[in-house]
Amino acid sequence: MKNKRIKSYRRAMQLYQSSFGFREPYQLLADADFVQSCVTQKMDVMARLHDVLQGAVKPMITQCCIQALYDAGEEAKDAVEAAKGFERRKCNHFKARKQDECMLAMAGEQNKNRYVFATQSLPLRESLRAVPGSPIVYIARSVMLLEAPSNQTLAKKRRMEESKLHVSAEELAQITGKPVPTPTPKTDEAAFADNAGPAGTSEPPQKKKKQRGPSGPNPLSAKKKSKPKSGDDNAGRRPSKRELEGQQSGEAEAREERAAKRKRDEEVKVVSLAVRNGVDTNGDRKKRKRRRKGGAGATEGADGAEAGAGDAGGDE
Ligand SMILES: [Zn+2]
Repeated sequence: MKNKRIKSYRRAMQLYQSSFGFREPYQLLADADFVQSCVTQKMDVMARLHDVLQGAVKPMITQCCIQALYDAGEEAKDAVEAAKGFERRKCNHFKARKQDECMLAMAGEQNKNRYVFATQSLPLRESLRAVPGSPIVYIARSVMLLEAPSNQTLAKKRRMEESKLHVSAEELAQITGKPVPTPTPKTDEAAFADNAGPAGTSEPPQKKKKQRGPSGPNPLSAKKKSKPKSGDDNAGRRPSKRELEGQQSGEAEAREERAAKRKRDEEVKVVSLAVRNGVDTNGDRKKRKRRRKGGAGATEGADGAEAGAGDAGGDE
């Protein structure tokens, strides 16, 4: 039974560590009643806390909570002594508030300071369950216990895990080379897109573009492969008319494709030149200088090519 409990505590603390950044020594924020219970039951507080949290603990108490112990007077004398060994935590409550109120204020909405809350107040425990990543320690029948992670804690852990999975969508895009339609940092949006949302409809045209790319070089590569194959497999056999026709038509297709590609490239060049010119008129001086240099180099290259052609002609 006890081993089972230790296992579950270890699992719980691992969750708080991995998902909520808890680190030893754990900052344990105790309220007055918790300290009082420890004292009246003559508990070895530090040893029990170490057992329950499976690690080193730094006990703390807020100004409001130690004030409550002082206010209890003689009855809480030993508890005050015990609490004096705790680190005093500033809650900045100018006027001492009720313990539950002060502790909840320390937790805030996210328990940013990663406190472990030690309290005997049931309403406070209930309220703290709504704050994800808030471990709760309490004493029941002279046994110190750690509450199981609350539903809110588990839900947030799940959300964070899911968001981690979806962040990899961008990485996936990098790996596959597919452009991401819209960067979706929010998990909900990403999930929505996965379920064939509007982003899904925008993908097919992109896919078509992709298909057009490889379809160009494919016939060429297929033709290259077919030559040695036909030589190996049909060493003693003449290619049939059909095959020849097929090859010729294939070559014709390839030629057409190449011509089309050249045309496309030329168009792209023209467009880029037009764009350059457009930018030149608007662009800053630095850019213009660079481009002039580039232009000069290009003309020089052209001159050189012409000269080379002239030489070749002379040889003939
Ligand atoms: Zn306070």
